[in-house]
Amino acid sequence: MLNEQDIQLLRAQFPILNRQVYDRPLIYLDNAASSLKLTAVWQAEEQLARDYYGNIHRGAHFMADKATAEFENTRTSVRNFINAQSDSEIIFTKGSTESINLVAYSFGEAFVSAGDEIVVSEMEHHANIVPWQLMATRKGAAIRVLPFDDSGRLMTEQLDALLTPRTRLIAVAHVSNTLGTVNPIADIISMAHRRNVRVLVDGAQMIAHKPVDVQALDADFYVFSGHKMYGPNGVGILYGKKELLEQMPPYQGGGEMIEQVSFANTTFNRLPYKFEAGTPNISGTIALGEAVKFLMSPQRQAWLAHENTLLTYATKKLSEISGLRIYGQQPEKAGVISFNIDGVHPYDLAVLLDKMGVATRSGRLCADPVMTHFGVTAMLRISFALYNTRSEIDSFIEILRKVREML
Ligand SMILES: *Cc1c(COP(=O)(O)O)cnc(C)c1O
Repeated sequence: MLNEQDIQLLRAQFPILNRQVYDRPLIYLDNAASSLKLTAVWQAEEQLARDYYGNIHRGAHFMADKATAEFENTRTSVRNFINAQSDSEIIFTKGSTESINLVAYSFGEAFVSAGDEIVVSEMEHHANIVPWQLMATRKGAAIRVLPFDDSGRLMTEQLDALLTPRTRLIAVAHVSNTLGTVNPIADIISMAHRRNVRVLVDGAQMIAHKPVDVQALDADFYVFSGHKMYGPNGVGILYGKKELLEQMPPYQGGGEMIEQVSFANTTFNRLPYKFEAGTPNISGTIALGEAVKFLMSPQRQAWLAHENTLLTYATKKLSEISGLRIYGQQPEKAGVISFNIDGVHPYDLAVLLDKMGVATRSGRLCADPVMTHFGVTAMLRISFALYNTRSEIDSFIEILRKVREML
């Protein structure tokens, strides 16, 4: 377990935590939307601007070479972080959204024909629904929905019946950004693979909260974003199995992704560059390496245990408030608690909480089907990071009780 000093050392790496908003200490509980940035991350971006900036891969000078080496080092760090087999399976994008769009387009071109089916879970973020709908419309394919029950559990017992000889892929979140459920991804993948169906895992809400091993999971595709793991915004990762990526056509054309261009016949670069058209977010990607290093700290296990006690503690404290309903009651949860209080609009709550220094999220949480499932138009969500504390939860609960009185 972390002691007070460990927590202070952790928080010292996020100096923004010491700021005040409206003359009150900031309590940042919107980590599922974006986590705060580690000092080493923004210092790495600053160092790049100050010391060795240049465009990567094409350079013939010292600074470009150094930037290229650092960029490729980050690819290797990410590969180690999620235990991928090879660097060529790590593709840098601008976020989870772009990673999913890339797969929906390119996998769709290679493997989906009219009459085929894609299974998407009911608890997905819009980013893991709409790209599949766009692809399905283009290819004449159909979307089938894997539902969850009122406790927030995916009804995987229905999966086998949902899979048909026409199913090509299942798109599913590792952790739901609304319900917090940690889905049984390894089981879903083995069920899918028995039927020759591929699986894309949306790991955006998992990556900061628990260790991920893509080979142990046997995931075909795994996506996540830098800005939800204490890293930079504007950088995302797509992991894909090499044998699949090799069969998939490019998503965007441009520089870097080609081998040779002529008007008669253009050929494409090898993996991973085939999927990295144009100048990427060079400084952000290099800085992401610092977030990965941080998350691979030997202390990570203790940090994650700390975070989990916050989730349990906040759940217990919230449950004591009358008329409060928590959405998502699974024993295996990570990072988020979404709830509503009888007779109070979550937006009003969020505005008042903000005035007291507490940053939360309210609204549809990029998951309209989850709102529809529970027959609500909005929820209030709090979400945790390693640097949150028990006393922040106590203050939050006290403030929540107070603002509720005001409404
Ligand atoms: C945030 C989030 C996304 C989208 O990530 P971006 O970084 O905005 O592209 C996708 N899925 C889940 C579960 C998320 O939480």
